[in-house]
Amino acid sequence: MNARDRYPQLEVDLGKLKENLTALRERCQDSFVGVIGVVKGVNAWREVVSVFDGQGFSYLATSRVDQLQKMRAQGVKTPLILLRVPMLSELSDVVSLADASLQSDITVLRALNAEAERQGKTHGVLLMIDLGDLREGFWSAEELVDAAVEVEQKMKRLHLLGVGVNLGCYGSILPDRRNMQGLVSLAVDVERAIGRELEFVSGGASTSAQMTLSGMMPGRVNNLRLGEICLIGSANTGFAPDFLHRDVFTLRAEVVECRDKPSFPVGQLSVDAFGHEGHYVDRGIRRRALLAIGRVDCGDCFDLKPRMPGVEIIGASGDHTILDVEEVKDQIHVGDVLEFDVNYASLVHLTNTPGIALISKE
Ligand SMILES: *Cc1c(COP(=O)(O)O)cnc(C)c1O
Repeated sequence: MNARDRYPQLEVDLGKLKENLTALRERCQDSFVGVIGVVKGVNAWREVVSVFDGQGFSYLATSRVDQLQKMRAQGVKTPLILLRVPMLSELSDVVSLADASLQSDITVLRALNAEAERQGKTHGVLLMIDLGDLREGFWSAEELVDAAVEVEQKMKRLHLLGVGVNLGCYGSILPDRRNMQGLVSLAVDVERAIGRELEFVSGGASTSAQMTLSGMMPGRVNNLRLGEICLIGSANTGFAPDFLHRDVFTLRAEVVECRDKPSFPVGQLSVDAFGHEGHYVDRGIRRRALLAIGRVDCGDCFDLKPRMPGVEIIGASGDHTILDVEEVKDQIHVGDVLEFDVNYASLVHLTNTPGIALISKE
């Protein structure tokens, strides 16, 4: 069966995506900030990667080696950078597939240098600094500077591209003047120690876009790594500039049942399919529609947003999502296909699930 006739289906509007990328690249450029385009949010979806590849970004990025592999097989022209600090066990793939990677550990850097030597390649590294979000990165300035000096002077197969920070991921820390100045001052420490300017001072991901676009970013921060805001037109902070499309992606799912039922479960209450206690509100008899898409496909069903006004998501199990359609009861029938907006989390799930038909329009 043709992918266009299969559901659930996720459609990407490549024209809107391109407009988002161009707008972000140009506006960041106005602030002298270059962009690394991040495609992990869509599992390096081929058609999406092609649009990113045509943008003149300094790098395309993803967090996983299998996605680097896909991009290489596709023949992308933009250099590739790996975002997740690599496992020691995957360094040979990292060197052979990526031009550069993010790093936060001297043991890994030494092994990476040895692997690059073995493969006769030069590999770029961006040293990550942890400024409070408590995911990856050097915590002590001294350790950072020592690592930078060792890379610069002793690791002949590694090229120190610069330093970067990640925020808003684990510790939900926002970028602000203070931590961005902290990044700049550490970059300056490294530059003094190695005696040259760094190419990249990378100020974070989509959560840092607002500071750059509003002119609040310290001048020395000259790079951002952007995924979410490119793909869905907003950052998880709620920042959603009006020049970006927020409907690049459309999820379509099919109704497999539609009938009146009570809104409160009947019988003895225990736990749901995932072992959680449910919370149900008795609203009497309501028209409910059952969709053939579930938590296996999209993660949390409440991450989806019905486009038809009056349609409300009330819950899901692994393979089904349940809608209250009382407000629009005459408009919905078995076999109908409903459209949804997706957020970043659901996009990641949907594009990593084999059962979703991925389709694109120009
Ligand atoms: C995922 C990731 C990004 C991109 O994050 P978005 O929120 O999608 O912009 C940037 N840097 C690192 C290290 C990441 O893991």
